[in-house]
Formats: sequence, structure tokens, C-alpha cells
Amino acid sequence: MNLYDLVILQYNQIFDLYKIDEDIKEYLTFPKNEIMVNYPIRLDDGKVKMLKAYRVQHNNVLGPFKGGIRFSQDIYLDEVKSLAFWMTIKCSLQNIPFGGAKGGIKINPYEYSISELERISKGYSEVMYKYIGENRDIPAPDLGTNSQIMDWMTDAYQKKGRTHNNSVFTGKSIHCGGSKGREEATGFGVVECIKLWARKKNIDLCGKTYIVQGFGNVGSNTAILLSQLGMICIGVADHTRCIKSEEGFNVYKLQKHCKEHKNIEKYPYGETINKEDFFSIECSIIIPAAKELVIVGEEDGNKLNCELVVEAANGPIDTEAEKIILDKGIEIIPDILANSGGVVVSYYEWLQNKRCEYWTKKEVLEKLESRMEDTFNLVYEKSKIEKISMRNACYILSIQKIAEKIKRRKLF
Ligand code: NAD
Repeated sequence: MNLYDLVILQYNQIFDLYKIDEDIKEYLTFPKNEIMVNYPIRLDDGKVKMLKAYRVQHNNVLGPFKGGIRFSQDIYLDEVKSLAFWMTIKCSLQNIPFGGAKGGIKINPYEYSISELERISKGYSEVMYKYIGENRDIPAPDLGTNSQIMDWMTDAYQKKGRTHNNSVFTGKSIHCGGSKGREEATGFGVVECIKLWARKKNIDLCGKTYIVQGFGNVGSNTAILLSQLGMICIGVADHTRCIKSEEGFNVYKLQKHCKEHKNIEKYPYGETINKEDFFSIECSIIIPAAKELVIVGEEDGNKLNCELVVEAANGPIDTEAEKIILDKGIEIIPDILANSGGVVVSYYEWLQNKRCEYWTKKEVLEKLESRMEDTFNLVYEKSKIEKISMRNACYILSIQKIAEKIKRRKLF
């Protein structure tokens, strides 16, 4: 399935429940800018390689474009368009004064040396220089990228612009102007959603089990925080392997292993299982935290044997599987809410950089906690009162805000 088809299916689904001006509906269906460039980098063996890079700027009605940059071999334009669309929805839902964007480079980051990755990152920043900026478009890390890559991109941007402006990229290291708490912010937000859901349902999370697909930034930080609540991780998957353990994994050891080896291929604990069987492991909570479209169609939807699915990754479930999951009585906390902690703290980083302030980790995480609680409650109540899914509640709350601003400004 093309990911943009999923976006359009999700988007169109809400118009049976919510009446919107046809012009606004049409306007938000398309991104404002689709930027695609090929640029050269010098490899360590002396040869030149051309790389394909993307930046899609979906909408900036609420503020400058904002969204991550991913390094992925499988990236394609419609994928970036989809992720940019979801950023518009996410920022509006969280009341952040940003629009939506996304970018990426078509590479497998694990195939390049550190010095090549530095040249790739700086090259991207240089070719995208004229399209980005602190009040124009603010990139951040995503799949396959991290704070080191944001530091390199910032360096290239500052050199080209002859500036010390730190607020163009977020998700930087603390040494280069990053915010305390940004590294774990997305996982923190995921876990806040789980805690709030459990509170609503009167469920004690201690001793409950979960499985997680993806053990990078989002998956591993989510797992560490869940283990602090006494939850037990009985299954982990990544692009190399799927493993399970009835007694549970030591997620601290697993995170250390993944930081050193970049995957779980040679992790010495647990039992290897088939990729096809991973999501059928019986547990309380399933957390896809890797890639989009990993639970698709009737067969996948029927496999799930849990009480809750939390979409830490963007777009992991298609509409067909979603319908089956919801019909089975399993709740879904959608990506646009569940993983929004990252962009909330990116916004805090941007604010700190602009004001030349440094907030404590406690301050950052307390602010994030309270924002996640307010937004979660709003979404949850709306979904219960109107008997609609949490995803539809998120879309409606978010699009109402954007539509209101468009109408008041008479944008067209
Ligand atoms: P990451 O690169 O740090 O980790 C990705 C993980 O997914 C790795 O463990 C990798 O092995 C695994 N993976 C990759 N391809 C896979 C496949 N085909 N099958 C199974 N596992 C696979 O990335 P991340 O930052 O943790 O991002 C994960 C997801 O969360 C993405 O969907 C991203 O868009 C979303 N997200 C990230 C942030 C953030 O702040 N980093 C914010 C919001 C949403």
C-alpha cells in the first residue's frame, strides 16, 4: 500500500462525522511544497556518490513548518508527504505554533562510515539551506538519524549563513544547544499515554506484559520507562530479528546492546521467533515503534491478542486492520497523539534557543507531562462522548483549529 493512500483514507473517514468546508478539505489534501534534490558526496574510497534527498512542507497555517529527517533506503516521495501531513495534524492537536513537514535521504545509514555520515548530513543542510530556517522550517531527528546528525546539520547551516543561530534544528545534543529531556521525550510521551489510559480503565500496570517492535530511540526509551512502572517486556523485534521471553527481558541490558551493536541480531537472551508470529504474542500492550504499515489487512488485524495498541511509530496500522482491531474491542492510541512528545519537546528546545535559556530536565518533563495529560483527556473524552475512535477524535480536534484560522484570515 502507498502510505499516502492511508493518509487520505484516514482523512476522508472523518468527514462522515464532521462537516468541513469543501475548500479547506481540498486545501489540506495537498502539501504546499515537495522538494526533491540529488546532491553529491565524496565516499571514503575517493569516489563520488549522488544521493536523493527530500523535504516536503505540508502546511504552515499555524506556524513554521516542522518535522523530522529520516535516513532510510526505502524512503519515497509519498511516504515523506504522509509524514509531513501527520506533522501538521500533530502540531495542531498539541497546540504548538508549528505546521507540518518531513524530510529524508534515500540511504541505509548503517552502510556508511562516521565521516561519510558527517558529509551526507552537512550536504543535506547545505542543499536545503534556502528552504529551512528558524521561522520557516525546523527539522529534527527521525528514523535513522540522531542528535549527532542534527549537530552536523546545524554546523553546516551556521557556516553557510554566517550565524550562531541554534534554533533551526531541534533534537541537537546538549553540548550544541539541545534541550534536556529531548532524547527520551517521544518515549516519555508514549508512556504518559499508557499511564493515562490505564488510569481511565482502572488498570494497575505493574506486572502487565507488552511487546515492542523497534528498539531505537523511541522503542528503547519507552521500554525503560515502562519497566520503571513494573511492566514486563516479553517480546522485541527489529529489522534483523524477533525474540520473545516469557519471564521478560532486561531492557537496560537490551538498550546497552543496541547502542553498541545497532540491532538485536546477536543479543544472547530470548527465543527467536518468526516475523509473522511476532504481533500474535499474547500480552496486554503492543507497541509498534519502528516503521509504517507493519500491521496491515484482515489477517494481521485478527492476529492481535492484547488490550491496547500504542502507535509509537508513525502509520503502523492500515484502515482495514484498524477496523478489525477496534471491532475486537482492542483500543488504539494513535500515532498523532502517542508519539507527539517528541515534537512538544522540540518546540521547547526551539523556545530555549530563541530566548538563550536552558531549562532543567525536571522543568521540561513536567511541562511535557501536563501537556500530554491535557491533550489525552481531551481526545479520550471526545472519543467516548461521540463514540468515535481516538484517531478520529484527534483528526477532528486538530482540523477544526486549522480550519478556524483559515476562515478568520480569509486565506483563499
Ligand atoms: P531509530 O532509527 O532510532 O530506531 C528504529 C528502530 O526500528 C530500530 O530498532 C530498527 O532496527 C527498527 N526497524 C527499522 N526497520 C525495521 C523493520 N523493517 N522491521 C522492524 N524493525 C525495524 O528510529 P526512532 O527515532 O526510534 O523512530 C521510530 C519510529 O518513531 C518512526 O516511525 C518515527 O517516525 C517515529 N517517531 C520518532 C520520533 C523521534 O523523536 N525520534 C518522534 C515521533 C515519531
